[in-house]
This record gives sequence, structure tokens and C-alpha cells, in this order.
Amino acid sequence: MLLLLPATMFHLLLAARSGPARLLGPPAYLPGLEELWSPRVLLLLFIWLGLQVALYLLPARKVAEGLELKDKSRLRYPINGAWGFPIPSLSLSDTGWGFQALVLTAVLVGLGVSAGLPLGALPGMLLPMAFATTLTSFIFSLLLYAKALAAPVSALAPGGNSGNHIYDFFLGRELNPRLGSFDFKYFCELRPGLIGWVIINLALLMQEAELRGSPSLAMCLVNGFQLLYVGDALWYEESVLTTMDIIHDGFGFMLAFGDLAWVPFTYSLQAQFLLYHPQPLGLPMALLICFIKAIGYYIFRGANSQKNTFRKNPSDPSVAGLETIPTATGRQLLVSGWWGMVRHPNYLGDLIMALAWSLPCGISHLLPYFYLLYFTALLVHREARDEQQCLRKYGRAWQEYCKRVPYRILPYVY
Ligand code: NDP
Repeated sequence: MLLLLPATMFHLLLAARSGPARLLGPPAYLPGLEELWSPRVLLLLFIWLGLQVALYLLPARKVAEGLELKDKSRLRYPINGAWGFPIPSLSLSDTGWGFQALVLTAVLVGLGVSAGLPLGALPGMLLPMAFATTLTSFIFSLLLYAKALAAPVSALAPGGNSGNHIYDFFLGRELNPRLGSFDFKYFCELRPGLIGWVIINLALLMQEAELRGSPSLAMCLVNGFQLLYVGDALWYEESVLTTMDIIHDGFGFMLAFGDLAWVPFTYSLQAQFLLYHPQPLGLPMALLICFIKAIGYYIFRGANSQKNTFRKNPSDPSVAGLETIPTATGRQLLVSGWWGMVRHPNYLGDLIMALAWSLPCGISHLLPYFYLLYFTALLVHREARDEQQCLRKYGRAWQEYCKRVPYRILPYVY
């Protein structure tokens, strides 16, 4: 996996710009080191990371507590609210702090572009940028591993403490590595890679407009859909604190490379493909794709918000009427509403949205459907891991839930 993940990412980057754009089969050519290595690009990457660190360190108004750790303590995370927005009627008090980082980044990039920053040159730098990010992730993971060797046992992740150095380096030995109050995992999960992804998309759109006079409808849809996804993740930033990544997985190469390199460079694959392989898209088809995206988002957001609201306050009027199963831990499981339809309605919504991101690229190539295929495999595997954990946590109550809601992700199919 250490080699396969970066190799796959470079294969996708090369395939997207090649004529045949083949997902399967060898790459059209292998780039030389002079195409991959650029000190100027490395400097740009560090400026980008520095900017995101600076935005993360801005004083937050609200701090959320994470779940209880092994030593019974809880970590605190900047989440915030209404910082810096001078318009009182625009109540952003429930937004994620990361959302404001997105807005501020957009303002800075906008100012930069109007002052002559050549954002359209970024697509030409994707290969060296991906190389610099991979190298940085690798060195960063080594430092994290070295730091974890000195960490107390209570700070180690359940899976990354096997004693096998390579395995632990990959999975991550320490659960929540921090420097003071700066949380490396929380920062990397939502900031540089996720915001970098939409900036790369925007650069591809600008480059397309430069090449062809205006951006295509397909490129606009892909940009709009993925911006909505990233904006949503940052708006509801607090919900990341209860995900498996934060509460269960150590912070090693898997997450560091995943967050910093894999997300921005492979999730922008559809926009990369469209720059080199323009696709005609009529208005009726575009409307149909928007409808599919809207259905996916409706399910995804409805399911995630319903569970988050229920976990925060089960007597909230929007969830108080839902049917539940009590468990021995005192927590309850929802068995009606979205969570009565399938056991992971949020995954279903996410997959429908993934389909809508690929459809603007037409059906002539498999490459733009890579995300849908990879994401299906990821969510099926993730769902199985989550089921195991829930069975351990809730025992018979979970078995009862599985009996009442027999399908995992897709009703009547899976
Ligand atoms: P979920 O948000 O699905 O959370 C699973 C947890 O929810 C369970 O462990 C359990 O925890 C609780 N739960 C399960 N069933 C019920 C129920 N019936 N009633 C109440 N609580 C229940 O997990 P993820 O962290 O995997 O996903 C979060 C979102 O992130 C999803 O929408 C997913 O699609 C998305 N995602 C996106 C990725 C990407 O790369 N684009 C990658 C991974 C995820 P407990 O009981 O302890 O609360």
C-alpha cells in the first residue's frame, strides 16, 4: 500500500492528460525526474501549507470537545462561529471554523488572481506538485512515527501498535499527535488537502477558459458539485470529531498521504480529464445530472444531520418522534427515519453524488469513474469495519437493529 497508493495517484495524473486516458493498462509514458522535481513547486507547497496553518491558528470563538480517550481525558478542537463576519444578519454561528478558512482562502486567491497570480498555470504543475506533496507526506509520517516512539501507551492508536515498524508507520502509531494545542490529524483531515482540491479544480476551469474561450458546462458542474461537497464538510466540521478517522485510526502515512496528496490530486480527476478531453453536454442532460446530485445530497445531508442531531440531543423536536432501540451502553440506535431505510444511508447519498460528479464526463472513458469505483470499495470496507465495532459496542441491540434494517447501503440490493 505504501508504494501502490502513490503509484496509483501518479498513474491517474498521467492517464488524465494522455490521449487515450486509459484507466487500466500501463501509463502512456514515464516522466523523468526533471519533470517531477522542482524546488520552486516545493516552495509553493510550503507557502500553501503555511497559509492553512496560519488560518487554523486564528483565534476561534468556539472550542468543541472530542470523544473520551483511553485515559478518560477529552481533547479540545477549535470549531467556531462568528469570527470576523461583520454582517450581523449573516449568522454563521453554527458554521465550521474550516468554512471560514475556505472563505478566507477564496478571498486571498481572488485578490491574488486580480493582482496577476497565474492560477491557470497550476494544472501544468500538477505532476511536480503531487511529487512534492508525496515526499512531504512521507517525511512528515516519519517524523510522526519518531514522535510516537516517545508517546505514552495511553496515547497510542488501537491498530498502529503492532511492533512491526512498516505496518505501524503506515497505519499510524499515535492516535492524536499534537504540538501544544495544534492537532496534526484534525488539521490535515479538513484543511490543506480538501481546500487544495477545490483550488486545483478552479485552476483547471480557468485553464480551460483560457484555452477554449470559456469554461464548459461539464467543467462548471464538476466544479460546482465538488465545491458544494467541500463547503459542506467544512460547514459541518464538528461532525468529523466522531468519525473513525479521528477516534480510531492512528495518524501515519495512510491518513497523512491520503489527506494531503490523494484527496487533492485524485479527487480532482474529473476536472483534469475534462481539461484534456472536452465533453459535449446538453442542457437536458445537465439538468438530469443536477437532479441526481440533488437527490444524493438530500440523502447524505439528511442522514448525517439526523444522526448528529440525535447524538447531540435526542429530545430535539426534529428527531424526538423517531423510533429507537435502547442499548446496554445507555445510547440508543435510530430505527426509523433515514437510519430505518438502510444501515448507512449517508454512504448511499455519498455514492449517488459520486455518480453525479462523473456523469458530466460522458461515458466514453472509464477514467472519470475511478472515484466512484474506488469510493464504492472504500465505503463497503468502511461499512464492514463499522459494523464490527458497533457489534462489539452494542451486542444484541445491534443484532436487533440489523434484523429490523436488513440492508446495509442500497435498499433491496446490499
Ligand atoms: P458514520 O457517520 O456513518 O458513523 C457511523 C457511526 O454512527 C456508528 O459507529 C455509530 O456510532 C453510529 N450509528 C450507526 N447506526 C446508527 C443508528 N441507527 N442510530 C444512531 N447512530 C448510529 O461514519 P463515517 O465516519 O464512516 O462517515 C461520515 C460521513 O463521511 C459519511 O457521509 C461518509 O459517506 C463520509 N465519508 C467520505 C469520505 C470521502 O473520502 N469522501 C471518506 C469517508 C467517509 P455511535 O453509536 O458510537 O454514535
